[in-house]
Amino acid sequence: MNGYRHLLVAVDFTASIANVIERAQKIAGAEGAKLSLVHVVEPAPVDFLDQTILVDINLDKLLKKTASQQLHSLAEKYGIDDFNCHLEVGSVKSEIFQLAENLSVDLIVVGSHGRHGLGLLLGSTANAVLHGAGCDVLAVRVND
Ligand code: AMP
Repeated sequence: MNGYRHLLVAVDFTASIANVIERAQKIAGAEGAKLSLVHVVEPAPVDFLDQTILVDINLDKLLKKTASQQLHSLAEKYGIDDFNCHLEVGSVKSEIFQLAENLSVDLIVVGSHGRHGLGLLLGSTANAVLHGAGCDVLAVRVND
């Protein structure tokens, strides 16, 4: 069986993402695989009736700029080339799937929180990515 060739780590900017990236780096190192990062900015909702569209556009720009800086610092911390960092805008699950396909990724790595109660009912990013990915998915358990 061939090993993994390209890992895509889906990152948010919580402290627990460190465990997820470190686990992915170990696997990538052992397999001689490439490692990329992706963060997805979900657009702010547009409300035409309240005429807040201008505020939303500015908010989106701000969110994207902030996320880009955070992604850059994360990449720097882990010695990952900016070229292998991707900032996408849209639905987290769809953007991760699309990018994974475009980059011919064979393992998506996400963090997974032990959820209870309402959180379990609402689902999680890890759960969403597990269902429907076109390649293997590793859900790294992280502390809440
Ligand atoms: P959550 O279920 O939202 O608590 O997130 C669990 C995991 O999903 C995180 O540890 C990340 O791996 C990934 N994730 C969450 N939000 C994003 C995002 N906006 N972009 C990329 N990956 C994300």
